[in-house]
Amino acid sequence: MHKYPWTWLFIFPQRISLVSSFAASLFIGDYAPIDYSDGSGMNLLDIHKKTWDETCLNACAPGLKEKLGSVVPSSSVLGNVSSYHVQRYGFSPHCSVVAFTGDNPASLAGMRLEEGDIAVSLGTSDTLFLWIKDPTPALEGHIFINPVHFEDYMALLCFKNGSLMREKIRDNCSSASWEEFSNILRSTPPGNNGHIGFFFDVMEITPQVVGIHRFNAKNQKVSEFPQDVEVRALIEGQFMAKRIYAERLGYKILPQTKILATGGASCNQDILQVLSDIFNAPVHTIATANSACLGCAYRAAHGLALQSSASTFADIVKAPQNKLVVTPRPEADKVYQPLLKRYAECESEVIRASKIL
Ligand code: ADP
Repeated sequence: MHKYPWTWLFIFPQRISLVSSFAASLFIGDYAPIDYSDGSGMNLLDIHKKTWDETCLNACAPGLKEKLGSVVPSSSVLGNVSSYHVQRYGFSPHCSVVAFTGDNPASLAGMRLEEGDIAVSLGTSDTLFLWIKDPTPALEGHIFINPVHFEDYMALLCFKNGSLMREKIRDNCSSASWEEFSNILRSTPPGNNGHIGFFFDVMEITPQVVGIHRFNAKNQKVSEFPQDVEVRALIEGQFMAKRIYAERLGYKILPQTKILATGGASCNQDILQVLSDIFNAPVHTIATANSACLGCAYRAAHGLALQSSASTFADIVKAPQNKLVVTPRPEADKVYQPLLKRYAECESEVIRASKIL
């Protein structure tokens, strides 16, 4: 049904956008525009002007602008459901169709992130969703136009060495027991007495480095740590990297910031305590099954409400009952401010060394 069903073949990583506008096309029985959020995931949209960027389009394929069509705010009502759906499935002819979007922007809506919030998924890979006001795009991470408030932005960061790396250190240092792993985290101090580690069992995405690299408190490379130091170095290193990369994309921790944790490791309160200490923000846990679908239902409700009044997404969708699990320890911020700086310096050295090899 899409005017140019073949175009997704040419812009391979961007196919999702055309697929979601294709799905909307099926509902309205016409060519559906791409929404701002999904469009910005294509790396062809100027995220500030909210228009296709001519230079990027021309670098990709000739005549692409006409083929992609217009971009619209994610809350736009595209029209009513097609007569086919009315006759075949009994939809009301007055049923409106709100713009479709991609799964990541939809998840942000489903998790009900608010300004300054972070969602952290601690699974096989670790993923961060951030609500950002003034983005500073970098090579690592992706910036999207925010799907629930199009004057703001969202960012996505993915770290490949997540739970499998944690499991490996658990097996080597805490008798393959999460309980023992937690005991070690509880009995070692925030800041790990200055020890810093980088644990990339497989080639990391953020940054592109592989291997295990350890530094003592004098920034000297060392070949091993005692087991308890190793466990804390792993968890602190993983979360310091998340904060550093988030801030490089323009993320700022606000007084109302909360961290929403999900994924397998979010059941471990001692791991979440380190996360809370490093970001100096409270951590809540959320159940995010089908957050992308839920987010689209929320967005549809918001899009409809906007037809009659200027309401915000938060006006329409009630805040969920997330569970507060940990708050930052008072002394932690003083410890981590200088350590974050040192982590970034050691990381530069690791990246430099990996380029020489
Ligand atoms: P995915 O969906 O990416 O496959 P999950 O979000 O289901 O992964 O997370 C699975 C991971 O959760 C497992 O690999 C395991 O390492 C981790 N996990 C489970 N229980 C704990 C725990 N108590 N502490 C830390 N990590 C845990």
